[in-house]
Amino acid sequence: MLKKQRIIYGPVPSRRLGRSLGIDIIGPEKTCNFDCVYCQLGHTDKKVSGPQDVCGVSTEEVLVELKNHLKKVKHLDYITFSGTGEPTLNLALGDMIRNVKKITNVPVCVITNSSLIDRMDVRDNLAQADLVVATLEAGDEKTFMAINRPASGIRLDDIIKGLKALGVMGPRLEIEILFVDSKMDNPTNASEQAVNELIGAVKIIDPDMVEVFTVSRPPAENFIIPVSRQRLIQIAQKFDEALGRENVRLVFKGLRRKNAGIKHGNKRNEVYDLLVRRPCTADQISFTLEIENKDLVDIIDDLLGKKEIVEITAEDGKYYRAV
Ligand code: SF4
Repeated sequence: MLKKQRIIYGPVPSRRLGRSLGIDIIGPEKTCNFDCVYCQLGHTDKKVSGPQDVCGVSTEEVLVELKNHLKKVKHLDYITFSGTGEPTLNLALGDMIRNVKKITNVPVCVITNSSLIDRMDVRDNLAQADLVVATLEAGDEKTFMAINRPASGIRLDDIIKGLKALGVMGPRLEIEILFVDSKMDNPTNASEQAVNELIGAVKIIDPDMVEVFTVSRPPAENFIIPVSRQRLIQIAQKFDEALGRENVRLVFKGLRRKNAGIKHGNKRNEVYDLLVRRPCTADQISFTLEIENKDLVDIIDDLLGKKEIVEITAEDGKYYRAV
């Protein structure tokens, strides 16, 4: 029987963070206060309104698992709080980061959807990290509602104010903007007007860096498609002009590789754990977990046969996701 409640996963390959060991303090099921049209984890079945609706894991549970993993995994670029839901929904986040820093020098990152950032306690928690990667897909309320589909009461204005306030509290703040297009014209944040609104919002926030990219994994809604390479370059140029080229990063696909020297336990469980948090191609699984292709084929066949994972065909290839 597979253990689905594992808190630590990966390391996962990250376009931004290199080799990142993930900490999931919300899972095992996707728990979020957004239901983004592009979400790689599928639809949000359980859309929560705030921390009071979440039974997250404790600091002690995180530390026990992390100590165990740090004995097996080397050459990490980051320890990242992310996973199957929004990590700021767990209000023990700040305490966890402080304690993680007592047992390792690996920098700590939090990836957040920014939804609770207007709360002082949430900003205090995030301020313990070395890096906060905050997603922002809209500079206007209408696009925000259409793309992020937030729980009621969450407003873009508050998010923008909260991000600006976090920016002066210490951690490096990077804003991640995923541009989406739609087979039905809408929703999209790649129109001229939506891009101008986004640039206006980012100017108010004044982050250390903005990253511009597009969909590269199977989205929750099958009408969502990536923005063309040409349009993405145009958008990045607009951001360059507004913010300075050194403050804007345009990302296409591509991964750095380092030899992690992973000591494997049960490879089948490790593959399953990764796919619970992140749909991956066979190549990405092999790269991340350092499992030979010949072994991986057998593991994937077994997991598919037992209906523990499914195969998803996306624009750029075949992905696997846990069910
Ligand atoms: S993309 Fe992130 S914020 Fe959006 S629904 Fe998925 S987990 Fe939640």
